[in-house]
Amino acid sequence: MPKLLDKANYLDKHDPLQAYRKQFHIPLDEKGSPKIYFCGNSLGLQPKEATLYLDEALHKWKTQAVEGHFNEPAPWLSYHKQLKASLAHITGSLTEEVVSMNNLSSNLHLMMVSFYRPSPQRYKIMLEAGAFPSDQYAVESQVRYHGYTPEDAIIEVTPNAGEETLRLDDILQKIQEHSHELALVLFPGVQYYSGQYLDIQKITEAAHLAGAYAGFDLAHTVGNIPLELHKWNVDFAVWCSYKYLNSGPGNNGGAFVHERYAAAKELPRFAGWWGHQEEERFQMKKGFKPMYGVDGWQLSNVNILSTSVQRYALEMIAEAGMHNLRQKSISLTAFLEECIQAADPQSQHVHIITPAAPEERGCQLSLSVPHEGKKLFERLTEAGIVTDWREPRVIRVAPTPLYNTFREVYRFYEILNSTLYASE
Ligand SMILES: *Cc1c(COP(=O)(O)O)cnc(C)c1O
Repeated sequence: MPKLLDKANYLDKHDPLQAYRKQFHIPLDEKGSPKIYFCGNSLGLQPKEATLYLDEALHKWKTQAVEGHFNEPAPWLSYHKQLKASLAHITGSLTEEVVSMNNLSSNLHLMMVSFYRPSPQRYKIMLEAGAFPSDQYAVESQVRYHGYTPEDAIIEVTPNAGEETLRLDDILQKIQEHSHELALVLFPGVQYYSGQYLDIQKITEAAHLAGAYAGFDLAHTVGNIPLELHKWNVDFAVWCSYKYLNSGPGNNGGAFVHERYAAAKELPRFAGWWGHQEEERFQMKKGFKPMYGVDGWQLSNVNILSTSVQRYALEMIAEAGMHNLRQKSISLTAFLEECIQAADPQSQHVHIITPAAPEERGCQLSLSVPHEGKKLFERLTEAGIVTDWREPRVIRVAPTPLYNTFREVYRFYEILNSTLYASE
């Protein structure tokens, strides 16, 4: 298929973001050639300069020890502020609405303490069926904690018979149907399994009309799709940083709380000393006074070593710009789709479950391969293409705009083509 190859070469040559690839460590195969890494949805690659601020922090620790909390550069006492500008860009938020802290699941619990406040009439939570397990467990345990049963208190939205993704209208309608009893609506931006991107603004609007709070798990959305969390009026959101934010395994997650709660002292919350007003924190006084904004939800002093790595990774994304990333991403993923269709024109082997409309997906395509899917996945792995396998039949392929190329997508096509051809 020289036409596809020409196209790949042309698009790479005119890629305005091409300089970023060189700034990443790409894992190598046994022969020393770079692998084709389509797994940034699971763990983003390491920026070569990831140690820039880490070295600075280690040096400060070595030479200043405890005084590093107060001394320049980047005093540890307020280190989380170093990440605010880039996080605000990535999530479309005000700086006081975003913070890097804890991990996604812990943040989800903290947010539900404040935003899941069931009453006898209004105690239900709506989420998508087949939500990421951590979200399911968090929600189940929260409803139990308040004395309800998951069977009664959790409403799941399921795709229609014979369909694999949700219809936005069904979600909106279901929210309306349950408007008398809904306390919280909790959805992903991009769904981790199907790669479907849901309209956060519309879901938020519907939730608010129903008298419920709207929260989002943005694990697969941050760094993938430009967001406008502030403008969309989202109540809260949480995410992790090791997927599209390239911050390294298990690095801090993040949280968004809308500005309208910035001074909402009456919201119940689980407090810790790092959420207490900065000026008074070290007076060690009785009586919690939350900081303004989402900072008031912080519990513990910041893990400077991991946060410093995240700081670099986020600045890189903000510098590239979410809108530029999205533009390339749309075209990279469309090219992947084109390649899959070229290899399997009748969708006999591979069925893409991710929606075809660009506004309903991010970079990831989820390929349902009912017949010998695992074998195809293994064949890709042997050929140095890193994707992931999700039981029972899905291969997730996520070309990311910051470090993947069109030529790599073409290589995927070659392997897919030869594997499908060989199995006939
Ligand atoms: C990756 C992911 C998580 C991970 O949670 P951690 O607390 O960071 O371990 C949670 N939810 C979703 C939807 C995810 O994709």
